[in-house]
Amino acid sequence: MRYTNLHTHTNFSDGAHSVAENVASAVNKNMLSLGFSDHSYTPCDPLYCMKPEQYEPYLRTLEAAKKDSPIPIYAGLELDAYSQDDTSVFDYFLASVHYIIKDGVCHPIDHSPAQQQTCMRDAFGGSVLDMAKCYFDILGEHVAKVKPLFVGHFDVITKFSLMPEEDDAYRTIAADTLKEVLKICPYIEMNSGAISRGWRKTPYPGSYLLEVVKENGGHMVLGSDSHNLNNLTFHFDESVELLRQAGIDHIAVFNGKGFDHVTI
Ligand SMILES: [Zn+2]
Ligand SMILES: [Zn+2]
Repeated sequence: MRYTNLHTHTNFSDGAHSVAENVASAVNKNMLSLGFSDHSYTPCDPLYCMKPEQYEPYLRTLEAAKKDSPIPIYAGLELDAYSQDDTSVFDYFLASVHYIIKDGVCHPIDHSPAQQQTCMRDAFGGSVLDMAKCYFDILGEHVAKVKPLFVGHFDVITKFSLMPEEDDAYRTIAADTLKEVLKICPYIEMNSGAISRGWRKTPYPGSYLLEVVKENGGHMVLGSDSHNLNNLTFHFDESVELLRQAGIDHIAVFNGKGFDHVTI
């Protein structure tokens, strides 16, 4: 199967390689196309994202790559909930949550277990469910506000296995949010980023959420959340197999304007 990846980071944000190096790798891998999605500017944590002055050179570099590349290249953005960006200049954007800001403190959710534990203790009095509810509320409101092409790493809060993923109360919070999100944006990412970085054995979202996607008319988009040119299609064959096992018979593949539904 030839793949597309719409979740690619470069050295414009926290990726290891340049746009050109990633394009060359995609061509080498016989990919259908490649979309770039560097991190939007988050003022509370400027280390991992593009600075405002980098947007213009980022877009210029992608325009040049489009002209040179033998496969379609798309200029995208991973739009964080705490960013304020004009998304109209991009071919597409995905919506993600990486932070909880509470009582004026910015807590990164997916940087380290220690920071997530600090957030739970300081912002939520140690309540894992209160923290999960807050995360999913931020995500739901973000999606409703910005209406992305697709939703990135829906339950990234599980990255460090600190969430009670088997707990019915936790699952209800996640599933209820997903049902609301699907009414606004039916395209959800199957994200393998935490596997390539050694944190998890399975992609986001959790398998019980694939049931919710299936039952509520949603569609899955493969995304590797690549920060390294070797990972552009990381775990995609295995992800497709997991989708088949969940009874999902297609993936959504971007065509430059919208999604084609491709049988798997
Ligand atoms: Zn992300
Ligand atoms: Zn990402």
